[in-house]
This record gives sequence, C-alpha cells and structure tokens, in this order.
Amino acid sequence: MTMQASEAPPEPTEVAATQLSATRGGERQGLAERIALALFIGVPFLALLAAAPVAWGWGLGVRDLAIMAVMYFLTCHGVTIGYHRYFTHGSFKANHTLRIALALAGSLAVEGPLVRWVADHRRHHRFSDKEGDPHSPWRFGETVPALMKGLWWAHTGWLFDQEQTPQLKYAPDLVRDPAMRRISRLFWLWTAISVLLPPLVGGLLSMSWQGALTALFWGSLVRIALLHHVTWSINSICHAIGERPFKSRDRSGNVWWLAVLSCGESWHNLHHADPTSARHGVLRGQIDSSARVIRWFEQAGWAHDVRWPDAERIAARRTT
Ligand SMILES: [Zn+2]
Ligand SMILES: [Zn+2]
Repeated sequence: MTMQASEAPPEPTEVAATQLSATRGGERQGLAERIALALFIGVPFLALLAAAPVAWGWGLGVRDLAIMAVMYFLTCHGVTIGYHRYFTHGSFKANHTLRIALALAGSLAVEGPLVRWVADHRRHHRFSDKEGDPHSPWRFGETVPALMKGLWWAHTGWLFDQEQTPQLKYAPDLVRDPAMRRISRLFWLWTAISVLLPPLVGGLLSMSWQGALTALFWGSLVRIALLHHVTWSINSICHAIGERPFKSRDRSGNVWWLAVLSCGESWHNLHHADPTSARHGVLRGQIDSSARVIRWFEQAGWAHDVRWPDAERIAARRTT
C-alpha cells in the first residue's frame, strides 16, 4: 500500500507557541481533564444502561425517538463525513460554509475537540496495529487474555492515556486555521448545546417539563453514549474481527452488522486499504450512508474533487 498524503503529516514548522496552546489540551493529560473525560463517558453510559428498564417501565414515545434519531444521525455524520473523511483524510473538498458546518456537526458528537480527534486518527493510520498506534486492540499481545485487555484499551482505555498525540505534528493544517482552532477551543460550548438542545425541543413540542426531561434522557444522554460506543467499536471490534477482502498492513476488518449505526464506517478494512476514498462500503450491498450524503453535497455544489473509488482502484486492492 502506498503512503497517502493524509497519513504522513509534514514535519512541524514554526507556529507561535500561543497558537499551539490555543488548541485544546497540551501533550500531557492533566487530572482535571481526566475527571472531565470520565464524566463525559460515564454519565451517558449510565443512561445507556438505564435505557432498557426505562423503556420497559415508561415507554419510549415517538417524539423522543424522533429527536434521538435526528441528533444521532446528524452527529454521527458530523464525525464520519466531517471529522473523519473530510478533515482527517481529505477525501473531498468543501466550500467554506460546508467546512464550518461539518466541524460543528462533528463537535456535537461529544467525541473531543476537532483538532485532537484528527491528530489521534492520523496517528492511528500511520502506525495502525503497530507500536505508536494510540488504540490498537493488539497492543498487549495475541493471547486471549491479552486481546481482552487490548479490546478494552482500544475501546475506551486509550482515551485516558497520559501521553497525548502532538497536535502540531499530526494536524498542522488545522492548527494553522484560525476558524478550526476556534471551533476546537469552544468544545465545551458545542457539548453544552448538544446536551441542551434535545430537552429544549422536547419541552417546546410537548409544552411540558416532563417532555423536556425524557428528551434529555433519550435525545441527549442515551444518544451520546450510543454514538460513543459505536464509534469506539470501529477502533476495537473492527480491528479484531471482520472480513478482510482488501490488502492492508493491519488487522482492520469489515463488520457488516455495524454498518447502519456507524454510518458506513464499519467497512473498515477497505478504509485502511484506501484511506482517502470517500466511500468505504464499495462492494455490492454494503450500506454507506456517509458516502450517500457526500454525493448529495457534491450534487448541491458544496463539495467537489470527491475521491470516489473506481473499479480499477478497488480491484487493485483485493486480496482474492
Ligand atoms: Zn482503523
Ligand atoms: Zn481513517
């Protein structure tokens, strides 16, 4: 496999230290940050655990289900199309408005500030399943206990790693973009909006506090937790199991049952075989809603130079 431009970031050049500190987080994780992270992960997760008994006891109304689905797929595509395919891998070019909109929609997923997410993910591609990969499930070895430990690490544990990815080294393009630095720095604001918007809408639609409360539970907490775990499953499950019809230098696999919820990202073997491709589900019947939405952006004239995979490119990467 050839090295893609997005996998080999240029060496850092002189950017003022103030600019560096302007992006959220340094290269070491502080205690306050670890506590905040634990809360961001733990509180929605508790809601996810409570979801089944709550649905059983009180039911899940159409209004809350609709709010949850809209917020889920808005923020999921914000991450998959925005953070991942556009900002990390440059699989298409976007006009200014779409660029900002994608950065905001991705930020609403509560998966961390844009610049950090992109830096971590570029490092993942650079070292995938080798030493230096921030979240490989094979980190501790190949025995069953080592893989169990590794799956936990790849899923959630790595987020608490004190060693942080140097953002200037891996995402110099975003560090140097004032608008993107600003959006990254305001991560707390996007998190607040992401949590407060569903109860506001639920409360207004039902004109009741009760409606606001159930929308907070389903549309904010359960939705955030579900997307967290689906996203992290790409790092854990899709690097441990799945079919490998394409050549890649890691253990990435295609996992069909995560395709809908992951907005097409679980065709992860193809993604590692061809990281800049705008479509991950390239084989017949492989659902990839992110690629569909990118196509709509292209048709609307908001996206251009989309790297669609052609038959020859796909065939060259097949293992069989
Ligand atoms: Zn991967
Ligand atoms: Zn990627």
